[in-house]
Amino acid sequence: MARVYNFSAGPSMLPEEVLKKAAAEMLDYEGSGQSVMEMSHRSKVYDGIIKGAEALLRELMNIPDNYKVLFLQGGASTQFAAIPLNFMNGNKKADFIITGQWAKKAYEEAAKYGEARAVASSKDKTFSYIPKTTAADFDKDADYVHICLNNTIYGTIYHELPDTGNVPLFADISSCFLSEPLDVTRFGLLFGGAQKNVAPAGLTIVIVREDLLGNARDITPTMLNYKIMADNDSLYNTPPCYTIYICKLVLEWIKQLGGLEAMRERNIKKANLLYDYLDNSKMFRGTVVKEDRSLMNVPFVTDSDELNDKFVKEATAAGFVNLKGHRTVGGMRASIYNAMPVEGVEKLVEFMREFEKNNG
Ligand SMILES: *Cc1c(COP(=O)(O)O)cnc(C)c1O
Repeated sequence: MARVYNFSAGPSMLPEEVLKKAAAEMLDYEGSGQSVMEMSHRSKVYDGIIKGAEALLRELMNIPDNYKVLFLQGGASTQFAAIPLNFMNGNKKADFIITGQWAKKAYEEAAKYGEARAVASSKDKTFSYIPKTTAADFDKDADYVHICLNNTIYGTIYHELPDTGNVPLFADISSCFLSEPLDVTRFGLLFGGAQKNVAPAGLTIVIVREDLLGNARDITPTMLNYKIMADNDSLYNTPPCYTIYICKLVLEWIKQLGGLEAMRERNIKKANLLYDYLDNSKMFRGTVVKEDRSLMNVPFVTDSDELNDKFVKEATAAGFVNLKGHRTVGGMRASIYNAMPVEGVEKLVEFMREFEKNNG
């Protein structure tokens, strides 16, 4: 059996150890005589899984007790509506920094519920940088400020968080979840779809400061009401049971590797391999300004569309799949999430070097 190196932006690779453990436990989870897919979400054995996943997430991310952890469905995109419904209820205003498509979508969705304001944008240069802001740029009366911490499509990340004064900062961390330590106390809310770094698709995790809950609009659908989900320990209805189980296995894998500090080391090593090569190549170049480069998503191009296509085609044939860039940027993108082994990036760089030599 030959497994490929999958550079997809999401859904993406899962650690092989996790897949093997899940396979071994498929028919009989810990002597229950059932697969996790089959068991009641109200059973004692499942309770151990969901509680265990939450405890591990709290431990790894150092989540303080005054924050709730919610295991939800609907993807990050559903939260683009849930967030304004739950929190845009003081002055019915929120500020957004537009760093790409996901921030823009969140902004457009929020505009349906109140006054959404784009404070800054990097659209002028195809979102290849993070716009600089100061506390004075934000509306003191805004209910929150929304950012997309890691921009999956464009390959940028905030290495420094914006100063929003007393206005709570909310961040979409879909594509950098668990990739490195993050100071949760800097945020009112963190959220992300799990399918990039945490689990298969179907699970969305929300981490929210408890004092912000309880002000959802009356029209908020029950399923989008974070307070109700929190009061029911994410078991108001059937949660994505199996995905939460895989999430727990991924968290165990991260812990075993040494936690988020170790993840950061590993991710820096991988990203540096690729960026160092791109910086020295005469054929390929990265598209993002150096100081805002993501550890997770690395877009790059050659000067010719033809050459880009040829590269993607030959890479695919060689077992490096899903390297085609997002349609709005073109070229290539290598997503090198936690589960991508160092060896995968080493081999990709080797392949690129060879391609450059043969086509230069
Ligand atoms: C993938 C992604 C989304 C969309 O996630 P869904 O779970 O598919 O809705 C939103 N934000 C970011 C940063 C993403 O990478």
